[in-house]
Amino acid sequence: MFHNRMRCVVRCSATALWVGLAAAGCQPSGPVRVTNANMVMGTEARITADAPDRETAAAAVAAAYDALNRVNDLMSDYVADSEIGRLNRLPPGEALKLSPETYFCLSEAQCFAAMTGGAFDVTCRPLVSVWKEAGKTKTLPTEETLTAARARVGWDKLLLDADRKVAMTTAAGMEIDLGGIAKGYALDLAAHAMGRAGATSGLIDVGGDVRVLGPQAGDQPWRIGVQHPFRPRGEHFCVVELRHGAVATSGNQHRYSEIDGKRYSHILDPRTGWPAENAPHVTVIANDGLNADAWATILSVLGAEEGRTLLAERGVRNVEVMWLLPPAEEPIIHKTDGFDQYIASD
Ligand code: AMP
Ligand code: MG
Repeated sequence: MFHNRMRCVVRCSATALWVGLAAAGCQPSGPVRVTNANMVMGTEARITADAPDRETAAAAVAAAYDALNRVNDLMSDYVADSEIGRLNRLPPGEALKLSPETYFCLSEAQCFAAMTGGAFDVTCRPLVSVWKEAGKTKTLPTEETLTAARARVGWDKLLLDADRKVAMTTAAGMEIDLGGIAKGYALDLAAHAMGRAGATSGLIDVGGDVRVLGPQAGDQPWRIGVQHPFRPRGEHFCVVELRHGAVATSGNQHRYSEIDGKRYSHILDPRTGWPAENAPHVTVIANDGLNADAWATILSVLGAEEGRTLLAERGVRNVEVMWLLPPAEEPIIHKTDGFDQYIASD
């Protein structure tokens, strides 16, 4: 049966894997490390795996890349024959059978949409296109253009059938864009793949969003730099230490359009049709990549005040957030109570 509302669960899909590794005693004293940097999902990736021997570590890195590429091939709206590409070309009312991965990602996205009253909405692609064009032509869209795009957007117009694993749009011109969530999910699948390939620990960084696979040898945390929102790429605002889970950052530091001297974020508020105004830079630490990625986008739309209220009202656990707001010289910082425990002291 089709449905578009479901009980929302904040998942920690990676926990079981880590518990399994610990129980199996897979933390040898002297692991071998392999690191490889490459382009994936249109951005730079850096993958590190620790394993008992070099061959296993290299195989784990390769397995992680395979998982990232598979998610891209299935879910990128830029890949014409991806499942999302095909769904976007199907007329309304026609159902498309999906892989378990794409179905899972879409169903999680619909959970977030329901939980946020549409602040997170993967049907936002028509609006994303309008604002991309606005950025190119340096001209704000007209009210008519925005109204027409908004008629093609709405998470409640995307139907999913959990039994058959199919999706169906219900309005003409609807298009899905998993850009706010799929990278995080890809990180999770890559971490699982790494573990299955024999890595005892590892780190996967795709464009600054990072997932770790357990601590480094000796229970050492991984150190992950958080980009300074108002300084050149590579300058860190702080360093986060993680043994498990993921950290993702959303912001318009490097992805925005400038029209008439004003910056417009690539993150939209689908409730208004306009770019998000509230938070130029949001960093989220969560138990897994999917949650870190989705929440970073959501909390960019909502900003610190509405964001905190939602997290509290929904009883969301294991999501720690840092919002950084102008002025550039001395950013205003808002943090959830648990964020500081992850910040490196040196
Ligand atoms: P991120 O960089 O993870 O915050 O994701 C931003 C990308 O998600 C954008 O480039 C769009 O493709 C898509 N997106 C923008 N606004 C939203 C939104 N409100 N809900 C879901 N996806 C969005
Ligand atoms: Mg995101």
